[in-house]
Amino acid sequence: MVKSISCSDVGIDCDWYAAAKTEGELMVMVENHAKVHGYFEIPNELLLKIKSAIRDEVVE
Ligand SMILES: [Zn+2]
Repeated sequence: MVKSISCSDVGIDCDWYAAAKTEGELMVMVENHAKVHGYFEIPNELLLKIKSAIRDEVVE
């Protein structure tokens, strides 16, 4: 099982996708990628959106 997120999940027109074993790891990737969209610090509102969009994915 991995945690995954994509930009389109939070309504951003971008094909970026990330998956990680833990939510903490995933959030580091999200924070790094957010810079691409000009978010050097992720606003709380967007953070909540991201957290609710994180999915559990079953990996074979
Ligand atoms: Zn993106």
